Amino acid sequence: MIASVLPTYSRAPLQFVKGEGSWLIEADGRRFLDLGAGIAVNVLGHAHPDLVQALTDQAQKLWHVSNLYQIPQQQELADKLVAATFADTVFFTNSGTEACELAVKMARKYWYDKGQPDRTDIITFAGSFHGRSSAGIAAAGSEKMIKGFGPLLPGFVHLPWGDIEAVKDAITDTTAAILIEPVQGEGGIRPLPDADLKALRALCDETGTLLILDEVQCGMGRTGRLFAHEWAGVTPDIMMVAKGIGGGFPLGAVLATENAASGMTAGTHGSTYGGNPLACAVGSAVMNHVNDPAFLDDVNRKAGLLRQKLEGLIASHPDVFEEVRGSGLMLGLKCKCPNADMVAAGYTACVITVPAADNVIRLLPPLNITEDDIAEAIIRLDAAASTLNPKSASF
Ligand SMILES: *Cc1c(COP(=O)(O)O)cnc(C)c1O
Repeated sequence: MIASVLPTYSRAPLQFVKGEGSWLIEADGRRFLDLGAGIAVNVLGHAHPDLVQALTDQAQKLWHVSNLYQIPQQQELADKLVAATFADTVFFTNSGTEACELAVKMARKYWYDKGQPDRTDIITFAGSFHGRSSAGIAAAGSEKMIKGFGPLLPGFVHLPWGDIEAVKDAITDTTAAILIEPVQGEGGIRPLPDADLKALRALCDETGTLLILDEVQCGMGRTGRLFAHEWAGVTPDIMMVAKGIGGGFPLGAVLATENAASGMTAGTHGSTYGGNPLACAVGSAVMNHVNDPAFLDDVNRKAGLLRQKLEGLIASHPDVFEEVRGSGLMLGLKCKCPNADMVAAGYTACVITVPAADNVIRLLPPLNITEDDIAEAIIRLDAAASTLNPKSASF
């Protein structure tokens, strides 16, 4: 008999009942150090007092109101995002994959309205992840995600990851946009070199092609800048955001320039829940913390510390780990053993990591993780790695 919850997830036998900062408490009382943060979602850790306050204050007043009406909490968050980024305008969604849907629609509508309705193709890259909607899986194009779900949404051109020469050849008079993650998350924490992002921007400028960045995982302070593309000194035309923006409350967004958004007039898109008062009240509180230079300096400092300690961990366990890679507090440890074994060993040592493609385990801790918790993380990862390879030296 099928499980009452549709069995699409292979879940670990862990049931968390409470969260405090960078810690998750299991039903049996064990305390787990959370280096996954709900896959880069809980940017301020669990139960941050300001987020609890923002949510409960709003919950006392008004939970839901249709987008038929003014929503001041949405306006406030949009103003903050516009002030802090390249964007002139924001549409709120509930998730990353909904942001992908709108990004694709916006790019196609842009060219339609410009009198070039055949410019519908979106160039995407191997190893990408853009969510599980029909556009999301067609965009990523990976066999694992699309198999059995045809007919696929047409109009996606898949290229090798970061192959700029291939992009040059692939841009034609039917290309609407290029869609890429500045740092691939699910693909195994693979940062796109700054020079490549600059080259993509230049190619887009030459050809009028729109540049869509998927910062669902790498955005909201994760890499030590508010958005990862800031490191390369270029801006997109359209950007997808989700995960960290709600700090644990479901929220996503599409940010765009006025030009890129020009086709999205009244009635062309909408959402029942997107941008509801609860989500936006929490999102605003998240922005107050993350969009602060001192907070981001702290992320960079802690990222340096964690990375240095991870180098030491690798040196202690050369048979378990191959390398550390990533940006800021979006780090990946490429494993020599199966990555699933390392994640499971972490569970035994009460430390949470997240598997990714390319045999990587992801470390995506809350951005406000303390230095003590970073030190404890290394102790636990060392203990976990030692169970995989008992011969290696203790850290
Ligand atoms: C998680 C993720 C998505 C999908 O977000 P959902 O909220 O799960 O729909 C899209 N793109 C990237 C880069 C992601 O990491």
